Order: sequence, then structure tokens, then C-alpha cells
Amino acid sequence: MTKPRLLTFKRLRIAILLGVLAVVAGSTYYQVHAMANWSRPLIMTIYPINGTGTAAVAKYINNLKMDDFADLARFLDEEADAYNVTTTPLLNLRLGRELHSLPPAPPARQAGAFAIGKWSLDLRYWLYRHLSTFGLETRHIRMFVIYHGENNNKPLKHSFGLRKGLIGVVNAFALADQNAQNNVVIAHELLHTLGATDKYEHDGNPRFPEGYGDPRQDPLYPQEFAEIMAGRIAVSRNESEIPDSLDQTLIGEATAREIHW
Ligand SMILES: [Zn+2]
Repeated sequence: MTKPRLLTFKRLRIAILLGVLAVVAGSTYYQVHAMANWSRPLIMTIYPINGTGTAAVAKYINNLKMDDFADLARFLDEEADAYNVTTTPLLNLRLGRELHSLPPAPPARQAGAFAIGKWSLDLRYWLYRHLSTFGLETRHIRMFVIYHGENNNKPLKHSFGLRKGLIGVVNAFALADQNAQNNVVIAHELLHTLGATDKYEHDGNPRFPEGYGDPRQDPLYPQEFAEIMAGRIAVSRNESEIPDSLDQTLIGEATAREIHW
């Protein structure tokens, strides 16, 4: 007796699905593996987005130039040097075109795995609609920077960096005197895409020892530098300050290990 055609079709569909899954898993594995190879420079394209739609933010974006992000490349070169990673320049920066669409907002920090998974898919779909990946190199990070106005000192939404897909989304202030601090946030999210984890406590203070610029400093407080994945300088056991720029920031030993330096 011949089997119903429906069953054959079902099997074919399952085979295709499994094939697609294998390709996605394979390319993710390949990508993560390639990111651990520091003999080649990283590429990062920064795409500005007007987060408020105001003329002031539009003007700020129009005036952005590569030099406003030069700190980032210098920071990575200097820090890599300290860990004997000698590829120079380590970061090949590009300023991409302005995008006129906001990425899907991330779920709350305490959201469950399902909400996070759905958002991650939405984000990739958004990316697929707005940017081509044709010819994209393996070690290419895409960083979307959403610029906001002064916003009555309301805090910005959180920023994030994803290892899968090498995507970062940063919420930043559209003010020239904030550029140096914006670069601290961009560097933090860039390192997340490379596999670095956060090194701060629930209250936002740096976690000892790995979140301290120098956990062996004597006296321990105030710390001179912020560890980039802690994001703040510990000035006492339970007080910390935001660094002014990447000059007050370094890559600690735990983060260096996570990114295979
Ligand atoms: Zn983080």
C-alpha cells in the first residue's frame, strides 16, 4: 500500500525546517568562533537614529562625524595592548547612514525567556527590513545609536548588546558635551556583543573584585578607573560615579578573559 502523500510532504517540511535550523546554528557557532580570533580587526558601523523626531536632534545627527567616535578605537587599541593583543587598529569604525525607524523596544529586565526570545526575533526582522546583510563581513558589529534630547533629566531607556547577530542598541543624549560619555555606553554594549558580561550589583554599584578598575589598589577607595562592564567608578563600598569618558575606564581581567584576550 502506498503511503498518503500528505505524510511525505510533512516529512519534507520537517527536513527543510531542520536544514534551516542547522544553518542558523552553524552560522551562529561560526560567528561566535570568528569573534574570538583577534588576529583580524573588528568592524563596527554606527547607525544614528533620531529618537525624538525633533529638529535639534536632527541637527546634532547631521553634524556627527567619525571623529566623535575616535575615542572608541583608541580605547580598544590601548586596552588590547595591555593584554598583548597586537592587531592595530583593532577596531575599524564606520559611520553609517541615519535610519528613520526605531528598533523594537526591549522587554523589561525581569521579563521571561519567552518575551526576550520574541523581542530578539522582532529585532532581527526589523534589521532585515532596514539593512542588507549582503556582503557583511563576519566580524562586523552593527551599533544603532538612538539620540534623545534633554528630556527634562528623565533617565534614558537601557541600552543592550547582543552576541547573537552582533547587534547593539544604545540610547544616548544628542549633546556634544555628552559624546565622551555616550562612547562609554557604546564601548560597554560593543563588549557585550563579544561575549563580555555585566559586572555590577543589583543596586548599580560595581561588583567586587571583577567590576573594579583595580581590585588590588591600596587603599581600595576611591578607585581611579571604572571597569567597562561595571560602567561606574567605585568611590566607596556603596557609592559609585559615572566616568566622564573612556579615559577613566579600562578593561579588567575578567572581561578580557571573556572576550578571549
Ligand atoms: Zn551591560
